[in-house]
Amino acid sequence: MSKFVMVKCNCGYEQAVFKHAKSKIKCMSCGATLVDPKGGKANIRAKVEKEL
Ligand SMILES: [Zn+2]
Repeated sequence: MSKFVMVKCNCGYEQAVFKHAKSKIKCMSCGATLVDPKGGKANIRAKVEKEL
C-alpha cells in the first residue's frame, strides 16, 4: 500500500504528503494546513488527488 498521497490545496497547489505524518504538513504555497497528525493516523485536510 502506498504511503504517500498527492493532495491539492484550496489554493490549487499540489504536493505529495506522507499519510502517517507525525507533524503538521503545510501547503508550500499558501501555508494552509494539509495534514494534521491525530494519534498516529494523519488527518488529511486537503483534497486527495491520487495515491503515489
Ligand atoms: Zn495552498
